[in-house]
Amino acid sequence: MRSRLLRPRAIRLFLMAATVLSLSLGAIPQEVAAHSLLPGYSLFEINGVKVYFRKPPSEERAQLAQIGAIMMAGIGNQEPDEAHCAHMAEHMVCMYPGPSGESVWSISAKDYQLGSPLPLNGHVSLDTTEWAVSAAHSDTLRVLTALLGSMFRSTLESDEAFKTEIKRARREVDAMTGSDITALANKMKASAFHGTRYYETLFETPLPEVTAEKIRGFIEREYTPARLTLIIAADVDESELLNHIARCLVGIDPGRGPADHSDVYLDPPSQATLEVGAKKQYAGLAVGISRILPEDRPTVLALLNILTRRLYAVPQTGSIRFLRDLHTIFVAQSALVATYGYTDARGSDMSSEVQRYQEALSSILASLASDGPSMEELSYYVIPGTPRVSVDLSSIPYAGASQTVSTLLYNGLMETSIWDRAEAYPEETRKILKAAAAKYLPNAKITVVYQKQPSNSGTVLGLSIAALTACIALGVFFWRRATV
Ligand SMILES: [Zn+2]
Repeated sequence: MRSRLLRPRAIRLFLMAATVLSLSLGAIPQEVAAHSLLPGYSLFEINGVKVYFRKPPSEERAQLAQIGAIMMAGIGNQEPDEAHCAHMAEHMVCMYPGPSGESVWSISAKDYQLGSPLPLNGHVSLDTTEWAVSAAHSDTLRVLTALLGSMFRSTLESDEAFKTEIKRARREVDAMTGSDITALANKMKASAFHGTRYYETLFETPLPEVTAEKIRGFIEREYTPARLTLIIAADVDESELLNHIARCLVGIDPGRGPADHSDVYLDPPSQATLEVGAKKQYAGLAVGISRILPEDRPTVLALLNILTRRLYAVPQTGSIRFLRDLHTIFVAQSALVATYGYTDARGSDMSSEVQRYQEALSSILASLASDGPSMEELSYYVIPGTPRVSVDLSSIPYAGASQTVSTLLYNGLMETSIWDRAEAYPEETRKILKAAAAKYLPNAKITVVYQKQPSNSGTVLGLSIAALTACIALGVFFWRRATV
């Protein structure tokens, strides 16, 4: 049940047309084509659902079956009064007992006796919701019954099971909106997307106000077989599995495919007030680029990478320093938002320093837009000095499912291809990057979020945030500032 705040440095890319399913092929499993990203898996389509399946050979079989799921609906599918609904739908699909009387969680938890990490995980993003589940191989079909029942035959109502899960989720949402650095990251995201379909009243809507009826309404409206992909690695008979999935979907309309959210434009200025108790003083800087064509997304990501390296090269003065944990990229269908964090351990007013970085960012955007990157900048990929996150996958029971979900969602669109091309054709690559910079960067939107602790008031927890928005257009800088 990871929060919607993305992990630092884990670049999340949006799955494009690969998952657009427009035709229903009925309930008879039909093998379509294999996927180059998932070697060894066979791909089937059942009543609109894409099913990747692999029966691992005995020598490499994981102790537990790995079941991944991707639903092409997320925060951007919420109506304005549905804050938290996409996130709570993600929770309820696993934690609330489906029509079979069992929850995915209850089956998975019983099977998992290896240690303390949870046996499943979920994540909601701007356009997608993902789950990674581990369970005993012999329980694979039961898990699928519970999972598909919760998605397409929801019985969610305001009973004890619902209240228990909301109570548990409340701790997570409290941390997302009230715990200093996490709250700042979420505030930055909300502010950057203000005025677009990805904006939600995350901070203003208390979780108990989100009713079972609302969440169920979201599930029934937005979850369709045509938006679902399953990725299963389990020691089960293939035809038995496919027939079982077909039975689970009998009578369910394949429904709509993924919605088109490519009209998002990061234009309106944003401002916000956040009251949290911060141990230190923080500030955030976000740059958003919108109206990106799908084929240009890796190129714009590469530009953001160059921009980040230039920003990190700006000399640090005073006591302010970069908070590398807050460098994240949020990815929507046609928009990218990169965030940067700063801290001042001394607790002094950091606004002038943050403004210096904001101006530096504007200058970098303007010079990249007019001149493109230099040849030297084509030879770096990783931000210098940024440690790679290393996770011990062996301790995570659903690691295999998590990995296949990420591969399918993100790896096909990584900007790696740009850097590979840069090695072979540097001049041509520089031209491509320069053209994209000229096309997209003049309309970049910068959002600055301040957390200011009241001076001489260690006991006062109320912090104010001033959000400042700046746009650069045709090399001319316009910026407005609003202090709340
Ligand atoms: Zn959660």
